[in-house]
Amino acid sequence: MDILSAIKAYNQRNGLSLEFKALLSDMDGVLYNSMPYHAKAWAETLQAEGIECDTREFYAHEGRTGKGTINIYFNKFKNREATEEEVQRIYAGKAQRFVECGEALPMQGAQSAMQMIKASGKRVVLVTGSGQKSLLQKLSHHYPDIFTPETMVTAFDVTKGKPHPEPYLMGLKKAGVEPHEAVVLENAPLGVEAASAAGIFTIAVNTGPLSEEELYNAGADIVYPNIEAFANDIKKIL
Ligand code: MG
Repeated sequence: MDILSAIKAYNQRNGLSLEFKALLSDMDGVLYNSMPYHAKAWAETLQAEGIECDTREFYAHEGRTGKGTINIYFNKFKNREATEEEVQRIYAGKAQRFVECGEALPMQGAQSAMQMIKASGKRVVLVTGSGQKSLLQKLSHHYPDIFTPETMVTAFDVTKGKPHPEPYLMGLKKAGVEPHEAVVLENAPLGVEAASAAGIFTIAVNTGPLSEEELYNAGADIVYPNIEAFANDIKKIL
């Protein structure tokens, strides 16, 4: 499948016509090759709390707020929600371990893809569940003139977080467009679910260990194996 057929299917399903004015992009696993570090940091932090888990599980939780992820494990292993103090302490520990993993680098091809889309006149907005300040602060360095505080939705802006559509609905607002005027770029099933629930045409790049099928099942309109394949195909609609 190519992007034109995927758009045709989206239009038919929704009874409308996609008009690409804005790109809403996720951060981890799309703009940065940061997921291996997040997964490692989460697993080690929760293991230190006496919770059994392994790194691969965190690819399936990607997109949730820190609190959301912590409570899934607290409910499963401690039969209760974490207290606010525990959430703060555990998330701070995870953020610290993430930093100790080293510098997460931009995903191969992502900088040129964002520049190309921005240069074609599209609005570009970041929509991430991340509250990882060490990474958010690097955006202006690696993606200059693309993401500014006015064009970012982060963990600090939302109450519900992915897979709830709230972050993408806020992203639409920041971009000043309707759902059929935007395109989402995601890599995680929960992020795809959130974007799809917001009624937006959703492109997934499968940059982690999950199967392509998991992204299609979450509602992706089209799945690419990497950013370069996405960048190559999106040229058709720029
Ligand atoms: Mg992601």
